[in-house]
Amino acid sequence: MLALIAVASFALQSPVADTSPFRALALPTANRMRSSSGAPGPYYWQQEASYTIRATLDTGPSVITGSETIHYVNHSPDALGFVWIQIEQNIFAKNSVTYQLNQPPLHFAGGAVFDFTGKGFIGGITIDRFRIGPRELARTEYGTMMRVELPTPLPPGGMVDFQVAWHFPVPPYGGGRMGRVGNRLYEIGQWYPRLVVYDDVNGWNPLPYIGAGEFYLEYGNYDVTLTLPAGYLVAATGTVQNPLVVWSPAIRRRLLQARTASERVQVVTKDEAVANGARAAVGTRVWHFTATNVRDFAWAASPDFRWDASTWNGVQINTFYRPTAAPWEEANRMARFTIQHFSETWGMYPWPHATTVEGLIEGMEYPMLTFVPSIEKREDQFWVLMHEFGHQWFPMTVGSDERRYPWMDEGFNTFIDYGAAEGYFKGTAYGDTVRRELLADFQISAVPGQEQPLITKPVEQRDLAWGAYQKPALMLTVLRDQVLGRETFERAMREYVRRWRFKHPQPSDFFRTIANVSGRDLDWFWREWVYTTARLDQAIDSVRAVGSDSTYIYLANRGQMVLPVTLELRYGDGTTETRFLPIEMWNLGDRFTARFATPKPVVGVVLDPQAVLPDVNRANNSWNR
Ligand SMILES: [Zn+2]
Repeated sequence: MLALIAVASFALQSPVADTSPFRALALPTANRMRSSSGAPGPYYWQQEASYTIRATLDTGPSVITGSETIHYVNHSPDALGFVWIQIEQNIFAKNSVTYQLNQPPLHFAGGAVFDFTGKGFIGGITIDRFRIGPRELARTEYGTMMRVELPTPLPPGGMVDFQVAWHFPVPPYGGGRMGRVGNRLYEIGQWYPRLVVYDDVNGWNPLPYIGAGEFYLEYGNYDVTLTLPAGYLVAATGTVQNPLVVWSPAIRRRLLQARTASERVQVVTKDEAVANGARAAVGTRVWHFTATNVRDFAWAASPDFRWDASTWNGVQINTFYRPTAAPWEEANRMARFTIQHFSETWGMYPWPHATTVEGLIEGMEYPMLTFVPSIEKREDQFWVLMHEFGHQWFPMTVGSDERRYPWMDEGFNTFIDYGAAEGYFKGTAYGDTVRRELLADFQISAVPGQEQPLITKPVEQRDLAWGAYQKPALMLTVLRDQVLGRETFERAMREYVRRWRFKHPQPSDFFRTIANVSGRDLDWFWREWVYTTARLDQAIDSVRAVGSDSTYIYLANRGQMVLPVTLELRYGDGTTETRFLPIEMWNLGDRFTARFATPKPVVGVVLDPQAVLPDVNRANNSWNR
């Protein structure tokens, strides 16, 4: 009762904001679409966009000419008077943000360069028609986005077929994500007009394609017919529907062998690739592919491809590469290991094949298909090849909004990549230490005043390699190893993948899923790591022996970030003991007295003895008598 009176009198004084690190994180209110548990709610909906595409590549001028039917189903509760269409080839057109700003290329660690201006190439897409039935629709282009007016609003539950025709010149270098080498190798993405996502959070999502931000795409089914010169081999998202037409008897025989092969079968050998490339093939060949439940479709073509194939658990693993790419003879094994590792750890790979193509693109992912360069250093080759396949989980399976939240695809992927690299190179110095790169990167990149929170949009990030890749990977590593423990963390992460498979999660869906499945309030953790640039400084103020069998360790949290504490006690007889203090130690403030029963005299104490935390000042982490 006295306490209650005291509280009442405090209430008459000036109001005090809750500044506790454990105050609730302000998330969007849960609703019937997105439940408070982090799962899709009973009324969760998303649109369907399915594509039937016919396209021809003319390798003379390197122009792709296509027509498509977009089958669009409105599962939203809203009538739609217009639709937004992505026309990303206009990143090379004069009306794009990218062209007008003409910014220097993005540089990544390891020397990868993404030049989204296509080295100054001026191209862009021409929309030859955009119709419903015979009726041409009014449209307005805004660089890489196009608004198309519907003659009558598309009602909830309604569907519509758009008839679209277009053509564009393939950039000679590429925008970082697609392009060609002369007319010998084509790596084709962002090549057909496609629906912008309409969702329950933002309505339409027509953020322009500038370069740094990737894609947010609807799921659907694809039926794609490609006409190319007869001598070209094609690798694509989806399954070949006319194998008798496009593959020789020898290729078909070897693919049959590959179905039970755990090591590569050479479907096209080096000698055959060289011979194919030298032969002048006459005429064209039509390739037919279908794909189910994917958010995009990409393809690559060359007369020079070598092709290795193997199989893991029913998934055909394909590697296509030019005869000049010697490191790629191991690529199929790397790819197979990667698909197996990610499947076993995070959820089964959902499609019939996983294919990677060697070429000029520095690393880009599409459903079932990735573009990866040839790299001399084996560890780096594995990393890029494996990383692009990691995207089959984030964002190809878990379809998050890459244009806003790169940490949810690049970051989650980079985190799982460290596990794959530790596995493939297990027992080597590289495999056993590779994850320490994250703390080394922290030292270089987490610069106070310059660092930006993870939640920053990719086109506003000054250091995308840190904010989109490395820092989120460090965040999940700390969450797994220091906060939740591996088993709890992995169970929660697998559940997030399962719940949001082929759907569109928001950050709040991720936070709520991890909290619900792990049973832990993690608002403090996400605030520090995602919404702020809080820094950690755990410190030992002093240590005192109490009686003959206890030690008091006076600890302080001197930074803005809170984390649990791991302490190593060193005894006079040379033995050591590790103690763990859970996060609740900071409930009452930034000082905590750890009271340990210590039957032997303590002569030293070390905080974070394995040096796994991004503690900005290690000088105050130890005490010696
Ligand atoms: Zn990536």
